Amino acid sequence: MAGILYLVPTPIGNLGDLSTRIIETLSAVDFIAAEDTRVSVKILNHLGLKKPMVSYYRHNTETAGPQVLQRLLSGESCALITDAGTPAISDPGEDLVALCAEHDVTVVGIPGPCALVTALAVSGLPTGRFTFEGFLPMNKKNRREHLDSLKQERRTMIFYEAPHKLVSTLGDLAELFGGERRISLCRELTKLHEEIRRTTLADALGHYRETPPKGEFVLVVEGETRQEETPVLTLEEAVERVRRLYAAGRPMKDAAKEVAADTGFQKKELYRLAVQEASN
Ligand code: SAM
Repeated sequence: MAGILYLVPTPIGNLGDLSTRIIETLSAVDFIAAEDTRVSVKILNHLGLKKPMVSYYRHNTETAGPQVLQRLLSGESCALITDAGTPAISDPGEDLVALCAEHDVTVVGIPGPCALVTALAVSGLPTGRFTFEGFLPMNKKNRREHLDSLKQERRTMIFYEAPHKLVSTLGDLAELFGGERRISLCRELTKLHEEIRRTTLADALGHYRETPPKGEFVLVVEGETRQEETPVLTLEEAVERVRRLYAAGRPMKDAAKEVAADTGFQKKELYRLAVQEASN
């Protein structure tokens, strides 16, 4: 029987975030696939664990992936860990999960530290609907296309960014969304110097131009909040809309109320005219 691939999150800055289940899983597996074995060995040493490790990182996924798969198919169990946070989230792992899924190997995700979720939760911005954008492309053309695709985005947007690129990214975002757009910059989450700066894009840009950014950042940017212009309807068109809602099964009163709220026409007037038309 095939073994199991466990996706094991590791702390994004605080060793206290190693949960019991994370520790138990690392202890129980046959081997660990790690993004950087030198980083991961520190966690294993902290836990007093010794485990066989193989490298699985961005540039060897094509060769290492099938090797890990073979071991899983032969019955061994494996924990995939990356340098920090949840494997497969802007990290190597996505391809290995897809490969396992293709070969019906069970993949078990262990919940734990993840920078984007922690940042979104503390951002103070709407969390009901959001989009994770990861790192923006480095290539100028792809970057521009990617940013353009976000122009009308109404959901809260989450970006990862390296400190040395932060100012240029804030500049691009301010140009795209306007300087007044709200942003929460979440720096060094779970670490000693954790800082959440809830401000605007213009203010953030000014601040980090003056004070060179240090540490790791997640940017949480408010979505577009301006209401789309309500198309101006004539009274006739508004009545027609009431009639169509009624034909689709809505009670006439409700239909008139809804269209009145959208168009500014009197509910009573819309109701009267729609009833009149229906009886003709
Ligand atoms: N897989 C990881 C996760 O679950 O969050 C993300 C890995 S990605 C290669 C690294 C990026 O995550 C950093 O560049 C930064 O944007 C963000 N990040 C990781 N740790 C962070 C922390 N402690 N505070 C703020 N951002 C962090």
